[in-house]
Formats: sequence, C-alpha cells, structure tokens
Amino acid sequence: MASRKPGVLALFDVDGTLTAPRKGVTKEMLEFVKELREVVTVGVVGGSDLVKISEQLGKSVIYDYDYTFSENGLVAHKNGELIGTESLKTFVGDEKLKEFINFTLHYIADLDIPIKRGTFLEFRSGMINVSPIGRNCSQEERDEFEKYDKVHNIRPKMVSVLREKFAHMNFTFSIGGQISFDVFPQGWDKTFCLRYLEEFQEIHFFGDKTYPGGNDYEIFESERTVGHTVTSPQDTIEQCRSLFLAK
Ligand SMILES: [Mg+2]
Repeated sequence: MASRKPGVLALFDVDGTLTAPRKGVTKEMLEFVKELREVVTVGVVGGSDLVKISEQLGKSVIYDYDYTFSENGLVAHKNGELIGTESLKTFVGDEKLKEFINFTLHYIADLDIPIKRGTFLEFRSGMINVSPIGRNCSQEERDEFEKYDKVHNIRPKMVSVLREKFAHMNFTFSIGGQISFDVFPQGWDKTFCLRYLEEFQEIHFFGDKTYPGGNDYEIFESERTVGHTVTSPQDTIEQCRSLFLAK
C-alpha cells in the first residue's frame, strides 16, 4: 500500500451507504472497498454494535477496513485491534444515571395514555432508550401509539421536561422510530469517532441520512469532514470512483 495517499481517509456509514438498509454487503462492494483501500485509508462508522455490523459487513470487518467504529465509535478498532471503548455507565456514573432513571420511570408511571405494556426503559452501552408505551407492545399497538403521539405529543412533551430537568447532564434527546426516544451524552453521535482520526487532514464522509435529524447529520456537517450525501451503495461506489479512482 505504498501508493496510498497519506492523510486522506474515506469514512463510510453502513446502512444505506455500504449496504441496503439492514441488508448484508454485496460482493461488488467488498471488491470495491478493497480497490479503494489501495489508494486511500478507509473507515466505517455505524450506530449498531460490532456484532450487528459484522453481520452486515462480514466477520472480517475489523480487518477489511483500517478503522472500524461501532456504536458511533464508542467501540473503536484500528487494523483489527481494539483502540478504545467508552460507555454511558463509565462516562455519566451510576449516581447520576439513577437520578435520571428514577425520574423517568416516575414520569411514565404518572402518564395517562390509552395502553401501557412493558420495558419502558432499555439501558444500552451508549444510550438509554425510553418508551412511554413500553417496548414489548405488539406491532398493532405500536402503530396506534404512533398515531396517538402525533396528536397528543407525548414524546415531545416528555423530552422537553427531561431536557429542562437534566440540563446539567448535557444529554441529547433524539426522537426516532414509532414508540421511543434515545438519550445520550452530547457529542455521542458519529462525530465521536473523529477523536481517533486527528492525524488525517482530509476526511471524506459518505452517508445517506445527512439531513438535520438524520444520524449522519452531525458528522456530515462537521468542520473536520468533507461531507458527501449518497442515495444508495451503488451511488457510494460511483462517487468514490470519481473522487479517488478517476484518472
Ligand atoms: Mg445510513
């Protein structure tokens, strides 16, 4: 790899960028990444954990890319080796987490909505997922809640209360999907991985959800990156070809 351009990194989102949403990678893409890696350093950053990302990109993902950032970089690999981990538990600490969790459960207990099921709060390594109806509702109940929420603003109201009450914790609240919202420390979006990439002068980021509210927005907008919006894995290949491989 002597001919690789120094200081240049091509960094990719997973879903919708390297693979079709929630699908596995194609042989064509695997070949392409290999070809690209001869010219520039390559990295991948996904919101899912490494198990999920390996299912999509292949078991050898941490060796196929120079950098593999799972959970937005909370787990970081370089050339197959783990170079860093961070978690909500270590970063925020149990005392503060308990304060937040207790308040949130009380809020849900006092909330009058048509139905409630179970699993109102799911603790993950990099975020807390909060669902007023409870995550183990049926698909039909999900659809009903989503409609109800659009009229009654259950989630937006709850988020604004939590945001004010826990302003000192600097959490980001992100309403997504039908029944829940995510809570995580400010900056724990995809820009988190940039702390491992200080040696690069030119970081090209490719993602499909680069609009405000999308999970690629912050890193796409970051001053540290040159952002590229893609519409499909095929588009990713075409844009990279003209950027890095055109003669
Ligand atoms: Mg995506």
